[in-house]
Amino acid sequence: LSDRLTQTFGNLKRKGKLTESDVNATVRDIRLALLDADVALPVVKQFTKVVRERATGAEVSEALNPAQQVVKIVNEELVDILGGETRTIRFAKRPPTVIMLAGLQGAGKTTLAGKLGKWLKDQGHTPLLVACDLQRPNAVNQLQVVGERAGVPVYAPEKGNVFGHDAVTETGEGTRSFGDPVEVARRGVAQGQARQHDVVIIDTAGRLAVDEELMQQAADIRAAVNPEEVLFVIDAMIGQAAIDTAMAFDQGVNFTGVVLSKLDGDARGGAALSVASVTGKPIMFASTGEAVKDFEVFHPDRMASRILDMGDVLTLIEQAERAFDRAQAADMSKRFLSEEEFTLNDFLEMFATVKKMGNIKQLMGMMPGMSQHRAALDALDEREFDRVEAIVRSMTPFERTHPKQINGSRRARIAKGSGVQVSEVNQLLERFGQAQKMMKQMKKGGGMPGMPGMAM
Ligand code: GDP
Ligand code: MG
Repeated sequence: LSDRLTQTFGNLKRKGKLTESDVNATVRDIRLALLDADVALPVVKQFTKVVRERATGAEVSEALNPAQQVVKIVNEELVDILGGETRTIRFAKRPPTVIMLAGLQGAGKTTLAGKLGKWLKDQGHTPLLVACDLQRPNAVNQLQVVGERAGVPVYAPEKGNVFGHDAVTETGEGTRSFGDPVEVARRGVAQGQARQHDVVIIDTAGRLAVDEELMQQAADIRAAVNPEEVLFVIDAMIGQAAIDTAMAFDQGVNFTGVVLSKLDGDARGGAALSVASVTGKPIMFASTGEAVKDFEVFHPDRMASRILDMGDVLTLIEQAERAFDRAQAADMSKRFLSEEEFTLNDFLEMFATVKKMGNIKQLMGMMPGMSQHRAALDALDEREFDRVEAIVRSMTPFERTHPKQINGSRRARIAKGSGVQVSEVNQLLERFGQAQKMMKQMKKGGGMPGMPGMAM
């Protein structure tokens, strides 16, 4: 790691813009990483074009080398596309909220119905699952098993009903339907309403490849029950076929959101980027296994680093940026040591830097002398820093450079101005006096042995 940082800081002196050759080398690597993650080729092309444009001509960062900077831009763009429109289920103003599932056979719709049902139930909803896959003889039974596992009731066509199991219809070339899925969907929603289910989840049939007849069936179901959400379920392992499949379903049923399934497998999840890029629809959930519990809300940032497979690089970038902030802080404390006297103005400046870095304790640990007060530092309430800052801000410039001149009446005025007790002003001045003394000692001792907090 320290080698990396040396290299990073070796680049510190370069100013100006990132050059084309800076960008080219890294974009080539990114392109390979995306293809390796099975992002569809046209999406890779478009994506790298955007990154190249954004990166070329970007100001050279002082904290990162050009390659790291390009990767950072790539990551930002990825997160943006994957999560540009992050949201979860939208509920209907008047229940029940109807959620329809669509996707190829084996994509994971039926499994998802159970997971989604359980997830909603855990949030206090009362979902009902509706079995509208009447294409395969045991599809209805599969949903019933799934519902039982998830603890969510299932509405299914009954034997003997006109639209039920017994009503086998020939619906086309080699297609048998065990009833009318559109009618089942309609009745399922009516049942949901009658029994006060606030959400109705409709499981539908799929085929191994996009198929006009089944797409029409899905479109008919959509038209019949007017769902609030149509979720397109797609297998993360689908690879290059993601674009065509997603576009066909988008045209066929105009889905409102995407669920990525089988993310527990080897797939790096390029399908997520492909689908999000070509449809612009939000990815809402991820399915990560066969069990009901293997389900989560989609996280764009996790997906981005999975696609890039550069988790380590991203961590390094973060570290480099933080180290850069620390280096600046270290410079500052060196400067304080070289000054005649450490004043309350320096104190204020310190606070400004600390705020920018976001970690007060860490920086305080780096201030000369402070590391000996680890325990006290750890006990510090960060809000106390705000109070200290308020106190110093209530002092006049003269007072800040001549703290010893701050007498009783001045202390009372400062306390009033900053809204604290006089005792707190006393405490601050006492602590500041100690810090000043320590600075003096360290100057005599010649420099700072082992800058605390800088060990990586
Ligand atoms: P459907 O045809 O779209 O309804 O797909 P199913 O829900 O029947 O799922 C097809 C197969 O994939 C089943 O064997 C499921 O157990 C399995 N499956 C579904 N989702 C996942 C997942 O997230 N991870 C894994 N490993 N398997 C899954
Ligand atoms: Mg199914």
